[in-house]
Amino acid sequence: MPGRMVEVPGYEVVDRVELPARKTAVIVVDMQNDFVKEGGKLRVPTAEATIGPIKRLLEKARAAGVKVFYTQDTHYDGDPEFEIWGEHVKYGTWGWEIVDELKPQPGDIVVQKTRYDGFYGTPLDDLLKVYGIEYVVIVGTVANICVLHTAASAALRWYKVVVPVDGISALTEFDMHATLRQISWLYKGTVVRSVDGIEFKRGG
Ligand code: ZN
Repeated sequence: MPGRMVEVPGYEVVDRVELPARKTAVIVVDMQNDFVKEGGKLRVPTAEATIGPIKRLLEKARAAGVKVFYTQDTHYDGDPEFEIWGEHVKYGTWGWEIVDELKPQPGDIVVQKTRYDGFYGTPLDDLLKVYGIEYVVIVGTVANICVLHTAASAALRWYKVVVPVDGISALTEFDMHATLRQISWLYKGTVVRSVDGIEFKRGG
């Protein structure tokens, strides 16, 4: 079917959300050189613009003692995903590494994953439970692929999902709206306009 115009159904976007620091984790999805940087094998052109907002979010989160997780898409020789997307984020390569600006800090947890969903075949759910996490703020790329699959998987496990619009990136405007609409309407998550509207409340 050729491309055509469709109407985007409305979904709620809030300006501000307050989350209990101790029960919240930030999950940074696949902010790796291959997806983000010039010369990357599967670059999302708008991903680089999310580095600044994600950095601000991480600074705020770490200052409030919020646990920080990263997913790192990881493939090895002969991975079936290479038939769909071509070779990308091969273990140990430059493209596989998380971008310098968002390098994990001591105490952060990096979860290597092999598919779009950060929970699938990984210890992410166990780790979130160990730390008593109920709310997950999800940022990263690609919006309708790894971000949405991870957000959906979190929501199905009854985590409360929060996604800031300026913290995720998509290949098309349609994909961006489809992602936010699914998170808001189907998974009952909170879509917040900007990372700057997220407050972490200590002692909560
Ligand atoms: Zn992949």
